[in-house]
Amino acid sequence: MIDLKHITKVYERGMEKLHILNDLSLSVVQGDFVAIIGPSGSGKSTLMNMIGLLDIPTSGSYLLDGVATEKMSDNQLAELRNKKIGFIFQQFNLLPRLNALENVELPLIYSGLGKKERREKAMSMLKLLGMGERGHHKPSELSGGQQQRVAIARALSVSPSLLLADEPTGALDTKTGNEVLELIIQLNNQGNTIVLITHDPHIAENARRVISIRDGAIVKDERLLPLPGEAAHTADDATATAHLA
Ligand code: ADP
Ligand code: MG
Repeated sequence: MIDLKHITKVYERGMEKLHILNDLSLSVVQGDFVAIIGPSGSGKSTLMNMIGLLDIPTSGSYLLDGVATEKMSDNQLAELRNKKIGFIFQQFNLLPRLNALENVELPLIYSGLGKKERREKAMSMLKLLGMGERGHHKPSELSGGQQQRVAIARALSVSPSLLLADEPTGALDTKTGNEVLELIIQLNNQGNTIVLITHDPHIAENARRVISIRDGAIVKDERLLPLPGEAAHTADDATATAHLA
């Protein structure tokens, strides 16, 4: 699904060139739940912005679902982004003047659905996230956990092939953060591909695969759980290996 090859990102600050991503290559297949972990300033959000087509690399190639993105115009990138990717951010990024329902409905503007269908779809997403009774509340009338649920409903409204979450629990207390994490695990178990960025190793432990980055490069890549559908196969392999040992 994601195929990044030899990605670099260089920012210029005055005379200085800052190498934020250094020859980073990464593939993610459909159905996986990948946590990207690393200290503050290591380039996690920069990487997520590349994956999410919010920013373009200085060099390197990026195939998303087999589509080459390097030579696309801003409009083409925006169209691909709206079709394929759902975003969840630490600060929820809900529009304060719109109510929950209107916030969830917003990305559907590009979907080609009529007004009535958009509203129905938005309502069904809110219900799915347990927020069906809160559609007419403004973000300021909701708790942090409720706002993040609305943001997740919004991200899912377009049925994205990829869900990107940048520190989605970072602004929540531990208990609420764990509830949001449970929700993300559940979404992955239902088949959603997820890339989650966090600086918290305890959150990353819940992913299927954990990638550590330092200074804009991958320093560790661990699989904690097999891909969905590969469970039996991998268990057999493990048994076979145990017997051999
Ligand atoms: P992380 O999410 O891991 O904390 P970021 O990807 O946000 O890290 O940032 C990595 C580094 O890139 C930081 O040192 C940050 O200051 C720098 N950086 C991020 N965006 C820009 C930008 N637009 N211009 C210059 N430097 C930037
Ligand atoms: Mg960040």
